[in-house]
Parts: sequence; C-alpha cells; structure tokens
Amino acid sequence: MFQSPVIRVLFATIISLLLITVSWGAFIIIVSPQSSKTDIKLLDKSLFIRNTSIQNTQLEGNNIILSLTLYSTYYSLSLRAIELNLTKNGKSLVSNFSINFHLQKDKNTTVQYNIPRGFSDASNHKFMLIDKGNYTLNSIALRYNSTSVYTSKAFLIGSSFNIIGEPISQMQRGSLWTAEQIDLSTGKRISNFFLTMKESSIKINADFNSTFILRSQINLTSVNFVKLSSSGKSPTNFFINGSSAVVTLNSSSSANVAQFSNTTKFEVVFNLEKGESLTISILVPKQLIVLYYGIADDHWETNFENPLITMNLVNKYFKEWFNIKFVFSIKINFVSPSTTNLPTMMLSAAKQFGEALGLMNNTWDIGPGKRKGNLGLDFLLIISNKTMSNYGMVLGDRNAGYNMASNVGGSLNARGFRLAQDWADNLFQHEISHMFNAPDRYTGQDPPSIMTKSSTPEQVVSDISAGTSWLQINNWLPQDLVTMANAIKEFQTYQN
Ligand SMILES: [Zn+2]
Repeated sequence: MFQSPVIRVLFATIISLLLITVSWGAFIIIVSPQSSKTDIKLLDKSLFIRNTSIQNTQLEGNNIILSLTLYSTYYSLSLRAIELNLTKNGKSLVSNFSINFHLQKDKNTTVQYNIPRGFSDASNHKFMLIDKGNYTLNSIALRYNSTSVYTSKAFLIGSSFNIIGEPISQMQRGSLWTAEQIDLSTGKRISNFFLTMKESSIKINADFNSTFILRSQINLTSVNFVKLSSSGKSPTNFFINGSSAVVTLNSSSSANVAQFSNTTKFEVVFNLEKGESLTISILVPKQLIVLYYGIADDHWETNFENPLITMNLVNKYFKEWFNIKFVFSIKINFVSPSTTNLPTMMLSAAKQFGEALGLMNNTWDIGPGKRKGNLGLDFLLIISNKTMSNYGMVLGDRNAGYNMASNVGGSLNARGFRLAQDWADNLFQHEISHMFNAPDRYTGQDPPSIMTKSSTPEQVVSDISAGTSWLQINNWLPQDLVTMANAIKEFQTYQN
C-alpha cells in the first residue's frame, strides 16, 4: 500500500498526531529536504506555514532561532504551543513548549522562537541537550485555538542545522621582549640583544653554552588563561610577576595558567648548550566558554521577575571577566518540602529535577563539576520564593567543587528579611561564584566585593549606606578571579 518511505513516515505522523488532536483538516505538504528554508503549504485554507528557517551553522553559545512565517485565514487565531521533532545521530528528540501569539487574518506573520536546549529522547523520555552536533528538524506541530477549540497541526520540514564549538579568537601575544645571555664558561653577560619574533614565538640559538633570561609582558583586563609554550630539549622556567610562582616546562610542552593583572610580567629562564635552540611563546587564546544550566523552580516568579532576566545580568559579569556564557537549558517546577532548612530543600529539589528529566539514578549528581549523570548539564540552579535558613548556598565538597547553587527569597539568618528584585542578580552572582570556589569574604577583612558578607547588623547598615554592600556591587577580588577561572576550567571536561 505504501510505496515510498516518505509516505510511510507521513502516514505514521498523521496517525500519531490524530491521537493527540481534537480536530483535523486535510492537508498536503511539500517538502524540500535539501534546504533549511522550506516552503510548506497547508491546503485547508485556514493556516499555512509559508516558510521556516534555522540558520544552518550555529555557534554553541548563540541562541538557536527558529523563524516561522505563518498565514492564517481565521478571523482570530492564537498560537498556544509548538512541538518540535529533531533527530541527532538517528535518535528522535522531542520538545514541547508553550507560546502565546496572536495571528492577524489574511496576513503573513513571521514569528521567531529561541529553541529551548532541553529536549526529550522520544524512545525513553530522558533529557537530551541540544549542544554541539548535527540535527535535522523533521517536523513542527502547532497547537492553536481559533474559536473555542484547540487544534493541532503538524508540518513536515526536513531541514538540517549544525551546532559547532566556539572559535578561538583575539589571540593576545607577549610583547616588549628583552633578553640576556650569560656565557657559562666566562660568566660574561650580554644584555638586551635584539630578538626577532616570528608569528607568536621567539626562537633562541646558542653559539656557546649559555643561560638565557627572557622577559615579556601582557596586559590583561580580565582573567585569562595564558598559554606558555616551549619547544626544545631543555627545561624552561617561567616566573610570573616576579613572584615565586614558577611553571617549569620540560621538553616541548605547554601549560595554561590563569592570570589577572593589568600588566602581567614574565621572566623565562633556561640553559642551552652550544648549537642548541629553543622556541618560546606566551599567548592568550580567547575562546568563549559555554556552560549549560537547568533551573529547579519553586514559585520564584510569585515575587521576582523571570529568572532568565536575572541570569542575563549575571551572564554579563561572567562574560566580561571570564569570557564565559551560561546557556539556559531547561526549567522544571518543584515543590519544596515543609522545612526551612535550605540543604534539605536543595536535596529534595535535586531529586525532583533528576526524576523529571530522567537523569541517571533519577537525581541530580551533586558530585563536583560536570558529571556524566547530568546528561550534558553543567550546573543546577535552585530558586524559590520561600524564606529559608539562608538566602543561598552551594552543596558539595569544599575541596572538590560544586555544581548546584540555590537562591531563595528570604533568609531566617537575616531575621526573615526578604530580598528585593534589584538585588537578585547579586545573590545569584554570589552563589554561582561559590560554585567556582570563590570563598566568603568579610567586611573589615577584605576590600568590598560580591563575596563580602557583613558580620553584624551594624555593618549591614553601614555597608549599605556606603554603597559597598555585596548587594550593591558586582566586582570580584583579583585573587578570587584566578581561583574561579581555574575552577571554571574543571567544568570543561567530565569529572567522572
Ligand atoms: Zn556566601
């Protein structure tokens, strides 16, 4: 009865959609699978998808925008939900999300949606993250109401898109190189000889057995990983900012060192035998780091605005200082247990989140850093409108690291004082910083920063009137920037 696979798929789609829809009109679909722009017609004269597009190649950190051009002949039509069906490596992935959009009669309307990163594996309903890889958008089903009836229609698409890793850009190089050469047989010192730089590296040749001392510097206005490389047989010592911090590289190797200071000075010391040569480079390769997070939410928006607006502010600070972007993936609603103890609530949220997503062992894995059990998610943000023992907290092992942070509306430790919306980003930023091992700091002991806590009610009042409370400022201390950059690096590979 069915000659072609395309018709079989179409038939299967119609049958499966009939099971979930209220009413149907006959329709014909024209598919052009080679293109990401597809003309589709629906011949019941009520609703057409005139065009769909997703940019073919996407960078991992960018939003994935689905653009739909719709045409409706209904007098009044409101879109209520979209269901997307994707495949990745032969796996079928499904996502449903609510929308609320009104279409005008007899007009083309283009609507754009940021495709959520959290899909569900159609075979086992487990969470699937839309991260790097090749995807085919197979079909879109729209749910809408025109009069009093909800209707759903499916459109076959067949366009593909590709999500690729962020490129390395803006390579900064060591500058103002100077060198000294010391003749090991006579002790004679030759200063400031001319150095030629090829691309980003410096090659040194020894005419006699020598010690070389090279100096260079780099200006860093945010925290960065400096890549130190040496290619040659001899061990090379890199001293940073004249401190005892030394990186020793043995034959032909490199190391990435987190650094932050307006002028970071390097001194490179090595010995060469006559006829030997060695190549050195000091580079800051910039590459956007992308971390994916999920949200477990207990009525945050009863008192506060959409948490993604708050996270956009937090993203701004992290982008500026760490070149990192937190990409929202999925939100689930959870119910707090009847307790004011924040750690108890967090463990309950971790369990409910894990169950809802079908994570391994049906719970969020609170082990440090990026965990295989969390199916591609890097960290979990737990938010609640409730007043708990603390405003926020991270749970995990202080020495090993964290991957879960909580933020709540009020703190019993602060006599039940409730947070104002204006300060929510500071709370989020403070707790997320803890996840990356930034410690609490205290008024009077350290300069003011996002990590500074006031120890007494008097300090709270004086900090707020001076504008130096952690709720009013967003800076980190230089030493915490370096600590955090090293912890963020740990999230870039699986820890188990
Ligand atoms: Zn803290």
